[in-house]
Amino acid sequence: MSFEENIRRVTPYTPGEQPQKKVIKLNTNECPYPPSPAVKKALDSMDTDVLRLYPEVACDTLNDALCSYYGVPRECVFSGVGSDDVLSMCFLTFFAGREPVLFPDITYSFYDVWAEVYRIPYETLPLDENFCIRTQDYRKKNGGVVIANPNAPTGVLLGTDSIEDIVSHNKDSVVIVDEAYIDFGGETALPLIEKYDNVVVVRTMSKSRALAGMRIGYCFGQAALIRYLNDVKYSVNSYTMNTPALAAGAAAIRDDEYFRDITSRIIKTRTAFGERLRELGFTFNESSTNFIFAKPPAPFEASDIFERLKERDIFVRHFKKPERIADHLRITIGTDEEMDTLYLALKEIMK
Ligand code: PMP
Repeated sequence: MSFEENIRRVTPYTPGEQPQKKVIKLNTNECPYPPSPAVKKALDSMDTDVLRLYPEVACDTLNDALCSYYGVPRECVFSGVGSDDVLSMCFLTFFAGREPVLFPDITYSFYDVWAEVYRIPYETLPLDENFCIRTQDYRKKNGGVVIANPNAPTGVLLGTDSIEDIVSHNKDSVVIVDEAYIDFGGETALPLIEKYDNVVVVRTMSKSRALAGMRIGYCFGQAALIRYLNDVKYSVNSYTMNTPALAAGAAAIRDDEYFRDITSRIIKTRTAFGERLRELGFTFNESSTNFIFAKPPAPFEASDIFERLKERDIFVRHFKKPERIADHLRITIGTDEEMDTLYLALKEIMK
């Protein structure tokens, strides 16, 4: 027997590349604009003396700001180190049963990784040929459900009626709705938390609030679910979020005007760039996110275009797996200038 037998072995999630040199970076759905000036102000005015102390254990500065912004009771919110942390805690807390947890075959590729690392049984359900979720598939026995809405990497939005259909047909399971991209044109499932005790809505500040580097995520659900979540959090690591992140997150959430401005700019750029992509012969579903998931026209191959863009210091995302998306590219919406450069590069590659 060797120590190898005692080791938890997993195949980790593969994050998008973070190149060190200056490139046009359209591969990890970051925001092309800086965070709100209020974030800078909050950080600049921070007394570093406070860093001697552990941060707020219940993330009060941030959670109070979130609750007043979203109009949610204080006992219904939970925050973490990016929505990856929040989602991972949700998996650990809510998916401890024996039945398989259900999620689509094409979705955020961290879900199966958490299921593996926490030894949670799971079953993936195929999206239809247009990459849409078939809600009726989610009426079988399960130990939980997780839906990214809008979905990633497809960018496809499911209406709140369909989300409610899934939640109401799974009253014996917790349904997690991952709304990482909801601010780019979708309708939130947040009101469902009042009506259903089995739904959790997860959000992030990494995309629409331009704070990927701060690692801030949060979720909402009825008080009982949030209590279970806190019990698990306090059993793993009580002080998850650091003091600067709590201050930065609270400042960002209060600056609604800036948030509306940058999200509407991104949506405008998405519309304009989408038209150009169509002109080049790409096909794609209407996106409700800050990216477009598009298939190049024959005879061009996504993997080849990906490499040739990279040679020009333009990074987009290409997934080799699952096979049925290997002919697509996921392109984050950057500034108008970045999208102009990308368009010209694509035109040259595809001439
Ligand atoms: N959910 C989805 C669907 C995502 O695409 C991402 C970004 N990789 C996340 C959650 C996690 O984002 P973060 O941890 O930065 O909040």
